[in-house]
Amino acid sequence: MQTKLIKNTNELIEYRNSIQSDFSVGLVPTMGALHQGHGSLIKNSKKQNDYTIVSVFVNPTQFGENEDFDKYPRDLEKDFKYCQELGVDVVFSPSVEDMYPIKDQVLIYPPKNMAYVYEGFIREGHFDGVLMIVMKLFNLARPTHCYFGQKDAQQLLIIKRMIKDTFFPTKLIPCPIQRDFDGLALSSRNIYLTKEERKLSLQIPSCLQTISKAISQGEVDTRILIEIGKKEIYNLELEYLDICNHNLECIDKIIPNNTIVLMAAKVGKTRLLDNLWV
Ligand code: AMP
Repeated sequence: MQTKLIKNTNELIEYRNSIQSDFSVGLVPTMGALHQGHGSLIKNSKKQNDYTIVSVFVNPTQFGENEDFDKYPRDLEKDFKYCQELGVDVVFSPSVEDMYPIKDQVLIYPPKNMAYVYEGFIREGHFDGVLMIVMKLFNLARPTHCYFGQKDAQQLLIIKRMIKDTFFPTKLIPCPIQRDFDGLALSSRNIYLTKEERKLSLQIPSCLQTISKAISQGEVDTRILIEIGKKEIYNLELEYLDICNHNLECIDKIIPNNTIVLMAAKVGKTRLLDNLWV
């Protein structure tokens, strides 16, 4: 089997139409600069589907004006090779003009209570852009299954809600966070970190590990857990550390299987996200 590189929307539509209706199709949306975090999503899709499509597209509408859209790492050749090694059927990497041919287009808004807190509060309009691109990719690839990382917890929960609210016929498969040897969650943005910043950034997984340990020892009070976690952060700019349920509402006490510890911190100029699903 050969991995196909598809660079425009019409070709993807044609490809999708050529797949018989009783076959399953897994979609793994990414912004490229692929690492083993993406790899785990791809492997899950390969295991569970007849066909796997990986999209590689740095989506401009989810970046704010002063964010890193221009300097976001891009290396399609390397990403394509990685997908080849994993036996991906199609790498879909369209141009911005192809995905957004018209500026004044139909918009899709996420629920206010979920999308304008945490990441959505700091990155205004971020999830509007995420839903827009994911909806476009869904309509092009018509995946029976789609794969999202728990690393971006808020994104995953909002997309899950979009699927439910729009009756989109796809099953979302959440995939666990993949970490580097030192515990830092893998991220395409980790390459921005200097050696010193990388060391500092390890306070983030330490904070979550400490909270996780306290929970396993029986602590359920979220206020106390947050205090315990904050002690691990000494010289990072903590943007938020909070404990909420799957509707992204703050909770006083841990609810097993419906709790996430969310955090974001700035290390130098780089924002890093991490979280813990309880
Ligand atoms: P991105 O390319 O950063 O937009 O990520 C594409 C997908 O990969 C998203 O669903 C992310 O949540 C997922 N992802 C990124 N990093 C990781 C990781 N370390 N572990 C698991 N999934 C990840």
